Amino acid sequence: MSSNVIKLPPLLERLGSMTAIRDTELLEQSLLKTLGAVLGVNDVSLYKTDEYQRCVGMLNQHRSVVLDREGVERVTERIETVYQNVEVPAPELALMENVRLTHKPSTWQIDGSTLVVLPLMNARRLCGHIAFRKANGLSDTEHAIVHGVLEVYANYYSLLDDSQRDQLTGLYNRHALDTGIERMWPLLAQHGKSQAPSRRRTAEYDYWLAMLDIDHFKVVNDTHGHVVGDEILLLVSRMVADCFRKSDLVYRYGGEEFLAITSAASEADVLDVMERVRLRIEGHRFPQVGKVTISIGVARIDAQYSAHEIIARADRTLYQAKRDGRNRAYCYDLLQSEGALPSLHFGSAELF
Ligand code: GH3
Ligand code: MG
Ligand code: MG
Repeated sequence: MSSNVIKLPPLLERLGSMTAIRDTELLEQSLLKTLGAVLGVNDVSLYKTDEYQRCVGMLNQHRSVVLDREGVERVTERIETVYQNVEVPAPELALMENVRLTHKPSTWQIDGSTLVVLPLMNARRLCGHIAFRKANGLSDTEHAIVHGVLEVYANYYSLLDDSQRDQLTGLYNRHALDTGIERMWPLLAQHGKSQAPSRRRTAEYDYWLAMLDIDHFKVVNDTHGHVVGDEILLLVSRMVADCFRKSDLVYRYGGEEFLAITSAASEADVLDVMERVRLRIEGHRFPQVGKVTISIGVARIDAQYSAHEIIARADRTLYQAKRDGRNRAYCYDLLQSEGALPSLHFGSAELF
């Protein structure tokens, strides 16, 4: 399907990690502070990498010590955060490649000091690099301390990440959506190729928000019990997640409802993807239950409207798919242009 081979939109790739920022950013800052203080270095940087090992963010902790008028040392600390167009200096980049291959620290003598790059692991996956310069590199004791600090960080980070995940399905949970969406919305909305006509359209794709809901799921529970219901939910969630790209965002929105954010060049393309999801579920034979279907409503993420409003549009579209007999995927704009849905605006009585 041509729509699925378009190149991965870099913005959406970043958003997966951004949804967790609110909870994890403080942790990252405190990690840099700790390392700076323990090692006595004034500049420590953290380069975050995505699943393809591309740099998707940078945090730099700068510490300066000045003497005040009474001759007392005062420490000031500054944190700089960059999430777009991160420029990694060439020496750091070279060492990061070594670290990527070995998952071990790598060092380089430059201009009388030692550049040190350390791996930052999360659940055995390399998720970033710590870089700093130190006069004589790290002693054995310092190596051991750093190792301990990074291990504590990795354990704590995975605890925080767990709190963003739904326990049954492992998808991002509603809390992750609620905390992440306001932050990611301006980025998603700004990007759209269908923004105000006066602005140059450079993007090749738009972002889309889909609501997916299992049909007649209550009947599954009533007929086969909650345990079977849970198993169906897990299987459906895995299949849904499987149909999207790794860089798309998929949440468990409610009981048997999922919300996905994806990119596609056109309405036809996004509907192709949704049809693929729908057919995948329809074609599967589930244990005990046999056939299960889902209905889908999708709406384009448009800069003019809030996240709340786009979710309401997708929900209204889903509702129409249910009304028309379920097991179908509809797109808000298409239904609207066909006159099948009234236009939804906030405050409209149609909304709820
Ligand atoms: P519709 O096609 O209109 O969506 O019908 P429905 O039966 O799927 O929708 P309804 O909202 O009436 O019922 C949703 C059901 O989903 C009710 C609830 O028992 C079930 N459900 C929600 N969360 C869970 C869960 O975590 N596990 C199980 N087993 N069932 C759940
Ligand atoms: Mg349902
Ligand atoms: Mg529902």
